[in-house]
Amino acid sequence: MIRTRPTRKILEVDFSSYGDKFDPLSLLFDLGPFLIGAARAIRRKEAVSYRGFLVGAVAISTNELAGELGAYIGFNYTPYGGMPKRCAEVHSRGRAISDGRNRLDVCIAAGTTNVDDIEGVNYERTPTLRPCDNPCLPLMEDATVIVSVGANDDIYEAHTGEQLREIRQQRDSNALLGQYSRKRKQAEGAYTPQPVPVCDPGFVDWPARKTLYEELTTHLGYGSDCGTRNDRAEAAVFALRASGAELTELRAA
Ligand SMILES: [Zn+2]
Repeated sequence: MIRTRPTRKILEVDFSSYGDKFDPLSLLFDLGPFLIGAARAIRRKEAVSYRGFLVGAVAISTNELAGELGAYIGFNYTPYGGMPKRCAEVHSRGRAISDGRNRLDVCIAAGTTNVDDIEGVNYERTPTLRPCDNPCLPLMEDATVIVSVGANDDIYEAHTGEQLREIRQQRDSNALLGQYSRKRKQAEGAYTPQPVPVCDPGFVDWPARKTLYEELTTHLGYGSDCGTRNDRAEAAVFALRASGAELTELRAA
């Protein structure tokens, strides 16, 4: 049974009657555009930032024992400088936890696509605003599927929590290695930001992505053990990243 409500919880699924054959990630493919729209809407309506850095988020969380899933909306709130920031991802996750939904299956965040602004927060030049190092990234489980999306641009990226942690570790070791050469370049006034490679899957063909995801996961069970969840999350990210051309090719095959 699925019902939607105009509250902080925008979706509630009772899957207790599904036995152990319920996959929260398939919901992401069914409802992707709706959930992204919800993250954008909460950002537009409620996010507060004294410097105009607005973010909205949706957390899909489950309580597996009870067979309950919910999608919770959150927004960032930093009304004036010097105040500890509250991230949208943390807000939506907190609401899920206070509703007894401990497992974080999906995090969707809608924010800026201004690469300079993103670099200012995350020390990386990426097409979308990914969850920050602290406090957001530690909240992500390895098997959490993270979808970061433009607030106004139809552009998104997908990662698992584990993948994003690896990217950040790589970033930090690169920074360490590049420290001296960068300092020298800066001293010479030669620092130029690197262009951002955009591999944008576009907001197209969610049903085809779902088919691809199902094909990739037919051999997997529905278990809640880490191995199965990680495999499913990686398959979901793969299907989310597929380009429109790849999806068309797969359909023709
Ligand atoms: Zn954050």
